[in-house]
Amino acid sequence: MKTSIPDLPSGQSSLWLKSPPTESYPTLEQDVDCDAVIIGGGITGLSIAYALKQTGLKVVVLEKNTIGSGTTGGTTGKVTTQHGIIYDKITKQFGTAKAQTYATASQRAFDAMATLITDNRIACGWQRADNYVYTANPKKVKQFEDEVAAATALGLPASLESNLALPFETVAAVKFTGQAMIDAYKYTKALATLVDGGGSHVFENSNATGIHEGRPCTVKAGGHKVTAKNIIVATKVPAAPLVGRMTYAAMEFPLTSYLVAGTYEGNLQGMYISPDKQHYSLLPIQTEQGQMLLVGGQGHITGLKRPKPQQQKLAGYAQKWFGVEQIQYRWKAMDYVAYDNLPLIGKLYPWSEHTYFAGGLKKWGLNLSMVAAQVITELIHDTEPAAAKLFSPYRASAPASIPLSIVRGFKH
Ligand SMILES: Cc1cc2nc3c(=O)[nH]c(=O)nc-3n(C[C@H](O)[C@H](O)[C@H](O)COP(=O)(O)OP(=O)(O)OC[C@H]3O[C@@H](n4cnc5c(N)ncnc54)[C@H](O)[C@@H]3O)c2cc1C
Repeated sequence: MKTSIPDLPSGQSSLWLKSPPTESYPTLEQDVDCDAVIIGGGITGLSIAYALKQTGLKVVVLEKNTIGSGTTGGTTGKVTTQHGIIYDKITKQFGTAKAQTYATASQRAFDAMATLITDNRIACGWQRADNYVYTANPKKVKQFEDEVAAATALGLPASLESNLALPFETVAAVKFTGQAMIDAYKYTKALATLVDGGGSHVFENSNATGIHEGRPCTVKAGGHKVTAKNIIVATKVPAAPLVGRMTYAAMEFPLTSYLVAGTYEGNLQGMYISPDKQHYSLLPIQTEQGQMLLVGGQGHITGLKRPKPQQQKLAGYAQKWFGVEQIQYRWKAMDYVAYDNLPLIGKLYPWSEHTYFAGGLKKWGLNLSMVAAQVITELIHDTEPAAAKLFSPYRASAPASIPLSIVRGFKH
């Protein structure tokens, strides 16, 4: 077993963003009217825009850089209703009814995404795979057993496993069958092509600098304005005004994680993640360059850590356990996590009538972006699903969990 560390490429670049964007969209250069303006052109903004357009609304997407180039372009690629070891915790903390709401919303979103990809023949590498959360720590076995019991009771496809195909010893794993892997960048770009046209528009290099809620609402970008009945902020944290940033700082915090990807010649199947300190997130995936292994982890609250030492640890792990001799890509990405570990989807402020927010997707946004799309579409069409109450940014538990999170050291 080798223990040397493969060389890292000199610069940071995501595997997914390796090819230049195929389509590009214009900058906003005139005033535009629509039913809903969505700020942010990542998977969340585009999922919401697509869902609203499907209900007959004319939508406008404003993206300050290019579509999918934010966290979406730096993601791993697992689409799953298994967001770590959560269902037992949610059941105990919020009760069975709310845990059921979470599980149902997540499963419904997963199914909707599968249908959307099939119906529109989106070439985004969507492939079914089982997802495993594993541990090598005997003290966690009981927690994993409880998780399987809770997830199964909520109707999710969970089972307890002990013999995994991993090259190191594990003592327990929670397996969710029939999940999927995806190239989220290609998927998001495909959504943009479906959104643009028929009176709806996608704009790139269009930085939204001010929002005003009224009848109508307006969003300013580059000296022009979009007038709309509704505004949806899908930028992970409200970009403007300052009061928005400050309000959401009391509800969610940024978490940076690292990824490396290298050519992989082994035959590991499935998708893996572990809460153990010495283990990482693993995704063996077919790409245009052959089979690659993605290894992700070393997450911390966004701050001043240098990426290279973190990525060297991931590269060493890839080499030691999976024989990955060359790392072709290394990158980092950041997502927001709400203090009570539920997503933040709903009205931007308690007094908002036509302005919505979707964020706090806690590193599971490839599934939760579709939850956001479904919840916000229902809210705009004047129905309030149970998920809207549970995920409302103004639920009592959102800011109330801050002291608890600090005591726990923001473990995620
Ligand atoms: C390391 C890592 C690995 C992950 N792996 C997974 C995974 O395997 N499975 C999973 O489900 N989730 C995963 N996630 C989470 C998932 O990638 C994110 O939740 C999701 O990509 C967030 O998408 P988004 O659209 O909300 O944000 P982004 O993709 O960041 O999109 C927001 C967009 O808003 C734009 N913007 C910001 N301000 C403005 C403005 N003023 N005007 C106009 N536009 C603006 C930005 O340019 C950006 O493009 C991972 C996250 C990380 C960090």
